[in-house]
Amino acid sequence: MITNKQTEKIRKYIKPYRIDDGKNFKLKNFDPDDTGEFSKSDKESLKEVLEEGIIQLRELQEKLYADDKWGVLLIFQAMDAAGKDGAIKHVFSGINPQGCQVTSFKSPSTEELDHDFLWRCNKNLPERGRFGIFNRSYYEEVLVVRVHPEYLGAQKLPDNDNNIWKKRFQDITQFEKYLHHNGILVRKFFLNVSKKEQKRRFLERLDKPNKNWKFSQADVKERQHWDEYMDAYEDMIRNTASESAPWFVVPANNKWYTRAIVGAAVIDALLSLNLEFPKVDKRHLVELQAAREALTNE
Ligand code: ATP
Ligand code: MG
Repeated sequence: MITNKQTEKIRKYIKPYRIDDGKNFKLKNFDPDDTGEFSKSDKESLKEVLEEGIIQLRELQEKLYADDKWGVLLIFQAMDAAGKDGAIKHVFSGINPQGCQVTSFKSPSTEELDHDFLWRCNKNLPERGRFGIFNRSYYEEVLVVRVHPEYLGAQKLPDNDNNIWKKRFQDITQFEKYLHHNGILVRKFFLNVSKKEQKRRFLERLDKPNKNWKFSQADVKERQHWDEYMDAYEDMIRNTASESAPWFVVPANNKWYTRAIVGAAVIDALLSLNLEFPKVDKRHLVELQAAREALTNE
């Protein structure tokens, strides 16, 4: 059980990174090196807190399943090497795999390009009682596609005008409202790594033989568009943050802090649902009692 005091603490830690209204959002006000009130020497103790959080998360997941009203959609967006995979792996390491589906969205296939841009995501939305994790998402449509507008050509759109990004922001915002009305809680995470730290991580991938497989020449090429990506991220958050589907701009230069904040935000999301195990009615209690007697007298 999480006490009220713990809940307050969790809310306090994540508050600086939560964007419910993007009107005045400026990415430059968010420092990728930020570690809140913690320093490197707290790294191990924060890892322990995360371990405890993972246990709490498992309990909350059981309630989510038993309650069977809400599904939870968690969206992860970031530049390469920001630590999406590691954050997902760590935060969800303790939960029941049957209640959780991770979908990674890559460059769209020809079949996917023959549909509207939300189609492939729609097909992978979580059922009630379950987590759906999107490793990249429909947000790529206002990020990579915006930085490389030539990709739009392959999308065969009937009207491909200058307002396309505004329209996509509106479509996404409406879609997320629709999800909320229908019992899918949406939380979105931008792992905010710096250009310098990305370089360090790429070089590490080159230096360490067991990390070589992670290295991709394409990622280095994409890095040349860094500033355009940051502008696209800023505009995306400005236009798509909402109270029911907030963005979390999570500092990502220190993995131990990133994971703690993501973990805290996911716990907070579940607590906000006030989940309870379904109450058993009187008739059912009588049935349970009869079953107990039958088993005892066998
Ligand atoms: P990792 O590198 O850790 O495996 P990743 O998410 O970077 O994870 P990749 O296969 O390297 O996976 O990259 C997927 C690529 O697909 C990214 O460059 C992304 O921008 C691109 N992509 C995703 N969605 C779209 C889209 N709708 N249109 C065009 N490109 C997209
Ligand atoms: Mg990649």
